Amino acid sequence: MKDGIHPKYGKSVVRCACGETFETGAVVEQMNVDICSKCHPFYTGRQKLIDTGGRVDKFRKRMGQQK
Ligand SMILES: [Zn+2]
Repeated sequence: MKDGIHPKYGKSVVRCACGETFETGAVVEQMNVDICSKCHPFYTGRQKLIDTGGRVDKFRKRMGQQK
């Protein structure tokens, strides 16, 4: 590798929307992500929809009342 033309690759702190933080290697010092391996449905096996602000709960309550 030539000096001076490559971005510095080092340790990076990744901060996820779920509150999880982990270190990885990247050219930036910090990253913010919406989803990580801790909260991704593929890994958690949970419902694919991410509930923001209890909107799903409200919907479920409404549907429950109709029964
Ligand atoms: Zn996460």
